[in-house]
Amino acid sequence: MSVVGSTGSIGTQTIDVINSDPASFHVVAIGAATSVDLLAAQALELRPDRVALADPRRATELEERLPAGTELLVGPEALAEIAKSADVVVNGVVGFAGLPVTLAALLAGRRLALANKESLIAGGPVVQVARATAGAEIVPVDSEHCAIHQCLRALLGEKDMARMPHPPSMPLRRIVLTASGGPFRGRSQRSLAEVTVQDALAHPTWTMGPKITIDSSTLMNKGLEVIEAHELFGIGYDSIEVVVHPQSIVHSMIETTDGATLAQLSLPDMRLPIGYALAYPDRLQVAFGAIDWTQLPPIEFEPPDRATFPCLDLAYRAGREGGAAPAWLNGANEVAVAAFLDGRIRWIDIPAVISAALDECSAPVPSTVDDVLESDRAGREFARVAVDRLARASL
Ligand code: MG
Repeated sequence: MSVVGSTGSIGTQTIDVINSDPASFHVVAIGAATSVDLLAAQALELRPDRVALADPRRATELEERLPAGTELLVGPEALAEIAKSADVVVNGVVGFAGLPVTLAALLAGRRLALANKESLIAGGPVVQVARATAGAEIVPVDSEHCAIHQCLRALLGEKDMARMPHPPSMPLRRIVLTASGGPFRGRSQRSLAEVTVQDALAHPTWTMGPKITIDSSTLMNKGLEVIEAHELFGIGYDSIEVVVHPQSIVHSMIETTDGATLAQLSLPDMRLPIGYALAYPDRLQVAFGAIDWTQLPPIEFEPPDRATFPCLDLAYRAGREGGAAPAWLNGANEVAVAAFLDGRIRWIDIPAVISAALDECSAPVPSTVDDVLESDRAGREFARVAVDRLARASL
């Protein structure tokens, strides 16, 4: 295993899974952007051959704390470098910065346990080309997509799963992604005008990093997941639906042409999808999130409130536009979320920023990494203009 983004929420839970069954897994490399203290502690515990640190500022300090014989790679390319040599590469990097890791793992023909959805969304056309490399395969760690993967695998078998996103014809009517609804489910748009960063970070069912938690509060996380599902499984946007399910027990489902629904259920615990991706095509021998049916609270479903949470439809719009639009959407969203976390714009301004950026999108389909970088940059630039305008207006 190579665990990229090892100090983040996905990374630390990945190490938890690995430690639950140390005989099955061997960590050859770990890497992170900046968290030197935790990286040093992980290196002492796991004894990987290689450790990568993207931010060079504390490299000397880290080097002194690594076990003898550990190779340290430093700099912006380091994380992609450790994604090239392992049977399974876990990409738990946050945000668009995960793209080089995704591409390096796929181009090296590795199995990619993908938690970084942004790389697939922004870099879709480029990632799909890399994915055609012999041996390369994506097993999603995102809980909804992991659920869809398990359901489709039950329907199609492993051989056809390896042909994604160009599967044989599937007897499928639709896939249904579940959304917890986030901390603001049931609230009116007016009552959300003054919510604080703390309010938005209080997720009811999942404990995650700040970026994805804010995305969850706006439903942009679900919107990004709609695009992610399209990219992963080659399913058209008209056949991808979203339903709100506050308990996060049903992690998503597929409906076959004859009306049957297949779903994957477990308690909300990311270690299950992580373990699924690590062990694939086998199954982990340790249970995370198994359900006690005698103790399960009622589970509910309701339609998403698309007027109060416009980010969901912004994502559908960008997905249907295709080309560079998903990259613009993603870049603009990262800028908007950062501006909200910095206190520069209000929570309700986030969709306005993204919408303003999407209105400007005219870039062609990205065919190289540079095209993707350019689309991301352009989306961010228009988002920054919108942030400045909104921040000035609220002064
Ligand atoms: Mg998810």
